[in-house]
Amino acid sequence: MARMFGTCEVTRKEAEMGISWFANELKCRYCFKTHGTKQWPTNEDHVPFFFQKEAGNHTLTVQCPHCGKEWYVVWDGNPGPIEPVIALKR
Ligand SMILES: [Zn+2]
Repeated sequence: MARMFGTCEVTRKEAEMGISWFANELKCRYCFKTHGTKQWPTNEDHVPFFFQKEAGNHTLTVQCPHCGKEWYVVWDGNPGPIEPVIALKR
């Protein structure tokens, strides 16, 4: 019972923190399957970004769990500090 409520609490806090759904909807540049990431910048919604095979000025490296290859989310401007998504849930 307590555990169930705890899960609901985490979900609600996550929404309140404004974690972008983009962090869970990344599309691999190699196999084009959708996957999530454990890290995401705090101001990502204000800066346009692109999914690329090459790194850029502001880059988050992600590894596809489907094909195992690394690719990059690249921002035009500074998207803010990149935080572990798990830490943001607290
Ligand atoms: Zn892939």
